[in-house]
Amino acid sequence: MNELIDELRAALGERHVLVDGDLSAFEQDWRKRWRGRALAVVKPGSTAEVAAVVAACARRGVGIVPQGGNTGLVGGSVPDDSGTQVLLSLTRMNRVRSLDAANSTMTVDAGCVLQHVQEAAAAQGMLFPLSLAAEGSCTIGGNLASNAGGTQVLRYGNARELCLGLEVVTPQGEVWDGLSGLRKDNTGYDLRDLFIGSEGTLGIITGATLKLYPAPAAVMTALASVPTMEAAVSLLQLAQSRLGPGLTGFEVMGELALSLVHKHFPHLPRPLPASPWTVLLEQSDAQSEAHARGLFEALLETAFESGLVSDAAIAENIAQSHAMWHLRESIPLAQAEEGLNIKHDISLPVSCIPAFVAGTDAALQAALPGVRLVNFGHLGDGNLHYNVQAPEGRSAADFLREREAEANEIVYDAVVAHGGSISAEHGIGALKRDELAQRKSPVALGMMRAIKRALDPQAVMNPGRLL
Ligand code: FAD
Repeated sequence: MNELIDELRAALGERHVLVDGDLSAFEQDWRKRWRGRALAVVKPGSTAEVAAVVAACARRGVGIVPQGGNTGLVGGSVPDDSGTQVLLSLTRMNRVRSLDAANSTMTVDAGCVLQHVQEAAAAQGMLFPLSLAAEGSCTIGGNLASNAGGTQVLRYGNARELCLGLEVVTPQGEVWDGLSGLRKDNTGYDLRDLFIGSEGTLGIITGATLKLYPAPAAVMTALASVPTMEAAVSLLQLAQSRLGPGLTGFEVMGELALSLVHKHFPHLPRPLPASPWTVLLEQSDAQSEAHARGLFEALLETAFESGLVSDAAIAENIAQSHAMWHLRESIPLAQAEEGLNIKHDISLPVSCIPAFVAGTDAALQAALPGVRLVNFGHLGDGNLHYNVQAPEGRSAADFLREREAEANEIVYDAVVAHGGSISAEHGIGALKRDELAQRKSPVALGMMRAIKRALDPQAVMNPGRLL
């Protein structure tokens, strides 16, 4: 393998090929659940350099693990522990290549951090609406490879719907320039959509052309206490009928989720008292703040009168709005502080969510007495983060090791029974690979494997992940 390292150094320069020292930032995932060992960590600075790395690895049949911000939650962005895989970090490729205001598009390197993309769009008075709690460190390439969702899917769609074109390095080291800004292009199979959501198993995304939207005139946020999940779903329907496309966020947070935030981050203000469920609503308005406020007040008044909401607070300014979002976005961090947990990123038809939650809560409590159910998520998209935390006082690591399979079976059986998906937005990675093999239709799996064999016959791209 010395020969490979020499070739990589010649292509990228010595300092961009790391083989010793502390590589844990690349070899360990965000949850600290997976820790691997890389043959080398390489940091190409251009598409041509990515192609050179891939070609050098492919010639020797060496596996390549693409990595963006390493914020993925399913163990897809870190190498296994064999010490034989090359970890390819895209973070040096962080240029905004161009912005076409008249076409409402922007073309960026795959290693651009999501927040920088949002800021570059805002600087031109436009909006790139993908938004999630990891936006300060996740990259566009990682967002597209995992088809990330986030907080505004109900209005703008997930990462797939925000991308018009891609540049990809194939598993053979060729460059496919598909950086189109077209909204219509029916010229055969949609290769772009094949790479989006492929989790680095079909090629390396090196650039993307993204859709931009007009920035709204006003964005308003509110919190509402609701007594039951049924009431939360009814509030969603009411909000959709009153605000239409102006409703850009509808998040639900269970009381245990918020109490963990309070426990680990007591300095964060909590505007409303404890309630079984708290909903965060976001409204984006094309007219004005006064117009948005009027709509929000009328909506919440109707919700009070019909008993859907028992308490509510509308943010008075941007600082209060940020504080409300901060509460919601601190839940995964608070859970991480509390210890490893059994994560279920699931989606269901919204109408089935109350029955799913009631039935699955009861089944888990019966099978795993004392278990703590931390439930929150993007209710507007039918996406729950239905997480299972060890009973109070029990070692989180032991609980995960001993009871994860049982908890997964209960949750995923219920998800399937309600017509849902075992992965809404985080992807499959290492975490759900075996679950996918069991639960996806054999016909679908057969087609997925055929695509993988056709594009990556040597299986060098992110080996052992997804399939
Ligand atoms: P990584 O973690 O580096 O990689 C993710 C996957 O993509 C891996 O399989 C990797 O091999 C592959 N990959 C990375 N870059 C490329 C590339 N250029 N080409 C090909 N393959 C590549 N996700 C949501 O969808 N919605 C949320 O609301 C959300 N909230 C989150 C909150 C927190 C606090 C955290 C830590 C994560 C959250 N996530 C959420 C998970 C989410 O998937 C990631 O944050 C993000 O999309 C991954 O981007 P990344 O650059 O970190 O990718």
